[in-house]
Amino acid sequence: MNIKRNVLLNPGPATTTDTVKLAQVVPDICPREKEFAGLMKKLRSDLLRLVHAPEGEYTSVLFCGSGTINIDVCINSLLPEGKKILIVNNGAYNSRAVEVCEMYRLPHINLQFSVYEQPDLDAVKAALDANTDVAVVYCCHHETGTGILNPIREIGAMAHEHGAIFVSDTTSTLGMIPLNVVDDNVDFCMASAQKGLMAMSGLSFIIGKTDIIKASKNYPTRSYYCNLYLQYEYFEKTGEMHFTPPVQTIYATIQALKEYFEEGEAAKFARHRAVYEAIHDGLDKLGLETVIDRNIESGLVVSVKYPDDPNWDFEKVHDYCYERGFTIYPGKISTTNTFRLCSLGKIFPKDIEDFFVVLGEALDVYDIKTARNG
Ligand SMILES: *Cc1c(COP(=O)(O)O)cnc(C)c1O
Repeated sequence: MNIKRNVLLNPGPATTTDTVKLAQVVPDICPREKEFAGLMKKLRSDLLRLVHAPEGEYTSVLFCGSGTINIDVCINSLLPEGKKILIVNNGAYNSRAVEVCEMYRLPHINLQFSVYEQPDLDAVKAALDANTDVAVVYCCHHETGTGILNPIREIGAMAHEHGAIFVSDTTSTLGMIPLNVVDDNVDFCMASAQKGLMAMSGLSFIIGKTDIIKASKNYPTRSYYCNLYLQYEYFEKTGEMHFTPPVQTIYATIQALKEYFEEGEAAKFARHRAVYEAIHDGLDKLGLETVIDRNIESGLVVSVKYPDDPNWDFEKVHDYCYERGFTIYPGKISTTNTFRLCSLGKIFPKDIEDFFVVLGEALDVYDIKTARNG
C-alpha cells in the first residue's frame, strides 16, 4: 500500500509512520474479549513508563475522546466539596480549563498572566498564600497557542507546599519533552494519542496518583461519562473501558509506543529540537518574525507574525503549501495576527528545508514582502 506522506506543521494530529497507520488494519475483534483487555493492560503500563511513573503509586486511565476530554475529566473529578481550583493561566489552553470550571460552576481562581510570558511564580505563591482553600493547582506544561513552555516543576512544588495537588495539561509535550512525574512534581498529567506519540486521534489518557483517584470516590460526581474514579474503577475490576473504546486507535497507539521506545526519549527530543531549529533558520532566511522569546519557547510550536504587507493572505499561502503536502496552521493569540509552525510528528529537518522552498515560492507567487525582501 502506498500512502501519500503529508508533513503536518499544525500542533497535532501529527505526521505518523506508515507502520502506525497500518497497525489499525486488524481482524475485527470485540473489545470485551480478554485478548483486547490484555493489550490495554500493557498499554496502560507503557504509558507509566513514558513519564517514569512508579507503577502502583501512579496509574493510567484511558478515555475515548480528543485531548480536551482529559481537561474535563480532571477538573470535574478531582475537586473536593468546598474547595477551589487555581488555574495558572497564560494562554488559550489554560483558558479552556477556566471554561470547564465555568461550565461545571466550580469555585475557581483564574490567575491571568500575559500570553507572551511565562507565569510569574511570585504571583502564583501569593495567590496560594491568600487562598488556603485551593485544593487543585492547574497549569499547562506547554501553551500550544503561543509555544511557551511553563515552569511546571516550580508550580508543582508550590502546590505541594500549600497542600494542593498539581494537575498539568501535558497534551502537547508528552512523548516529546521528557517528563518525570516524580521529579517534576506532577500528580496528574494527560495527553491524547495523536500528538507526541504520533498515533491517531480518538484515544486520550490521564496518568496520575492512584491514592488521589481513590480519594476522589468521595468527591461530588459532576459527570456520568467523564468521571475519573468511575473509569479507573472499571479498569481495575474488568481491565476494560466502561464504554466502547476506540479499538483501531488503540492498536495504532500500541505500535506508536513501540516505535517511541525504539527511537528513545533523548533521541526523539533531539529530533524535535532539530526540526524546531530548522523552522527558526527558515523563518530567519525568509525574513519572517516570531512572537515569543526563544528562551521560553518549548521547541515544539513557533508563532510567526503575519508579514506586514497587504498582499498577505493566510488562506492563499496555506492552500499553496497544502497542495504541495505541507500543512500550516492559524495562530491562537487574539492580540497579534500569527500562524504556527510546529515540530510534532515523524518529521525531520530535511522536511522543513523542503517546506521553506515551498513557502518562499508562495511569497513570490503572491508578491508578499517580508522584512527581508521588503
Ligand atoms: C491539543 C491540545 C489539547 C486537546 O485538544 P483536542 O482538540 O481536544 O485534541 C489540550 N491541551 C493542549 C495543551 C493541547 O495542545
